[in-house]
Amino acid sequence: MVYDFHTHTSLSDGDLSPIELIRRALINNHTAIALTDHAAIGSLKRIIQETAEVCALARSYWDILAIPGIELTHVPAQAIAETAKLAKELGAWIVVVHGETIVEPVEKGTNLAALHSPHVDILAHPGLLSPEEAKLAAKNGIFLEISARKGHCLTNGHIASLAQQAGAKLLLNSDAHNQQELLTTTLADAIAHGTGLDDIACHQVLNINPQALIKNLPPNQ
Ligand SMILES: [Zn+2]
Ligand SMILES: [Zn+2]
Repeated sequence: MVYDFHTHTSLSDGDLSPIELIRRALINNHTAIALTDHAAIGSLKRIIQETAEVCALARSYWDILAIPGIELTHVPAQAIAETAKLAKELGAWIVVVHGETIVEPVEKGTNLAALHSPHVDILAHPGLLSPEEAKLAAKNGIFLEISARKGHCLTNGHIASLAQQAGAKLLLNSDAHNQQELLTTTLADAIAHGTGLDDIACHQVLNINPQALIKNLPPNQ
């Protein structure tokens, strides 16, 4: 069983068409995959519409939970709340915010803005997260991300440790941009343990938290 809530397709900078990425995930034993292409404001409506349609098609014919999502990427911090709200209104089931990774010049304040928004589900690769931010994630039920992606993964240990101290929930996502970067159970397990989390915490990250997120998606509410 593999869950993944952060991936990219040719609707932004990924290699595969949305339907091919879902097909590859199905063959790769994924239980659920969220398509979360990069968007700011201009492309939001088009990407969410196309993603929602293709996910619905896949769900009707294949045994995989294809989830329409979006990754708000380099959106000015002060515009995150309204953009996240709009994304949900347009039909996104999951809103991911591209957090303050140490390998890109993400605007300072992006993590905080995401963690204050009731429309954000996952703060991706939050970089040098602060203890206050971890506490806010716990309080507002926003998942913090352990990333399989090169560069973004450099702060995984720090994020896992702060999340544990604050009681914030973690998810492990691929941030895949092609089929080679899709997760396997072996790789996901290794990356989770690589953060220093123990067996029980890894099980929580890889199985329990994904199921909790799925339970709260629009069709299950
Ligand atoms: Zn990308
Ligand atoms: Zn991404």
